[in-house]
Amino acid sequence: MSDLILFWHRRDLRISDNTGLAAARSHSSKVVGVFCLDPNILERDDIAPVRVTYMIGCLQALQKRYAEVGSQLLILHANPLQAIPALAAALKAKAVFWNWDVEPYSLIRDRTIIDALKEQGIQFLDQNWDQILHFPEEIRSGLNQPYTVYTPFWKNWISKPKANPVATLENAEGLTEAEAEIAKLNGAIALPTAKDLGFLWDRDLVIAPGEAAALEKLEEFTNSAIYEYKEQRDFPAVNGTSQLSAAFKFGAIGIRTVWQATLEALQNSRSDETQINIRTWQQEIAWRDFYQHAMYNFPELAEGAFRETLKNFPWQINEEYFQAWCEGKTGYPIVDAAMRQMNELGWMHNRCRMIVASFLTKDLLINPQLGEKYFMQKLIDGDLSANNGGWQWSASSGMDPKPLRIFNPASQAQKFDPEGEYIREWVSELRSMDTEYLVTGKIPASERDAVGYPHPIVDHNLQQRQFKGLYQQQRESI
Ligand code: FAD
Repeated sequence: MSDLILFWHRRDLRISDNTGLAAARSHSSKVVGVFCLDPNILERDDIAPVRVTYMIGCLQALQKRYAEVGSQLLILHANPLQAIPALAAALKAKAVFWNWDVEPYSLIRDRTIIDALKEQGIQFLDQNWDQILHFPEEIRSGLNQPYTVYTPFWKNWISKPKANPVATLENAEGLTEAEAEIAKLNGAIALPTAKDLGFLWDRDLVIAPGEAAALEKLEEFTNSAIYEYKEQRDFPAVNGTSQLSAAFKFGAIGIRTVWQATLEALQNSRSDETQINIRTWQQEIAWRDFYQHAMYNFPELAEGAFRETLKNFPWQINEEYFQAWCEGKTGYPIVDAAMRQMNELGWMHNRCRMIVASFLTKDLLINPQLGEKYFMQKLIDGDLSANNGGWQWSASSGMDPKPLRIFNPASQAQKFDPEGEYIREWVSELRSMDTEYLVTGKIPASERDAVGYPHPIVDHNLQQRQFKGLYQQQRESI
């Protein structure tokens, strides 16, 4: 056995504030990173090219960071069940460390790998809690049950002390040349491009990848927009949110570092008003934890509705409506703007995610699982727990004490895009139309025809009544 510890990166693509990596470094100076491009994930049909491109960018940056501190990041492209234990054995590693994940696939994969490592007498440490601020067992109700409602979760969560950032990896030792050869013989490859992996994204990324870019974004946000977050976050034409979601998804930034930045912002803020803005952003960080805890405690969420009322809901099958929604051609300007933003950038504003999810489920009566999957196929930040949480909330099928919410696209546009700026940006046909038409959606048929913009595919009032009727029937049937 050598002193080598392999640190297996998964969704923690950074060397700063990384709990598992810091733990590895405290056991040995010879810490080498490894990332496995897992065909079980990459060959799924819900992987967005933009997300893979962002991830590869993060890996490139991570390789650079390892080189700067004297070590390296190995890349494998194979099933981790075999590849990780085989590499560890070939390199005679003393141990493999990694950070814990909440997703059902990861939990099963990790248990199998633990068994394989045990069989080979290789130590492991997987109980590093890294990507969330509190682990699920820490936040429980008085009856020691997981929470299914956010507000009591938040009260408990915010009352708990939060950990400080952990030390950045420094002065590490990498593989010898001979060991690097062994690694190659056991699958270590040069980092491929997203294109090499079959994912084409030829536009600029809306969010720059890597640890340094994420830290910069955090600094920019906590120096300015966070102080007006509550007031500005719902307006899609305004740059009022952090755009850190992709960095969170791939762990390009440490959550403790983020938390510390919010505490510093609180210290710097003089008025109650700005404190409320910062508090509101902290609540979003708690929503992220909430949905990850939910996925860990109730993995069945990934398979469908959580609430009994929605488990057998008679969703309609209408390929034409679904395609119109995907392509941003529903004839509802705010819905179409949002879908086109996502198709173009791989990112969509949160307010608009709620609007289009409500539209798919409550207006088109289409199964939210189809929307959830389409989001995963398009989003740079597509994340099982957050996406599923958002869709279950919007579809009235999830953990929500007041589930029957139906968004009226016109009132949403009037309230959150009152000048039609966002609509104009994304629906080019409508650019020169009156604002009143854009935000009410009441565009005369002749004007629609003149610019080639679709007529509304459904009538919101009729559809929402139909949804309510079906919802009531379901409630009565259980
Ligand atoms: P900010 O407003 O700056 O918030 C900061 C961070 O808090 C976000 O980066 C995110 O990590 C977290 N956060 C904010 N809102 C939520 C929320 N409602 N649930 C969980 N975490 C939240 N977020 C994803 O990261 N990945 C997804 O796949 C995803 N799918 C969604 C689907 C639907 C239908 C809905 C309604 C929401 C979804 N969200 C998802 C949540 C939210 O829309 C995004 O996190 C947010 O828009 C990202 O922008 P931001 O980083 O500027 O957010």
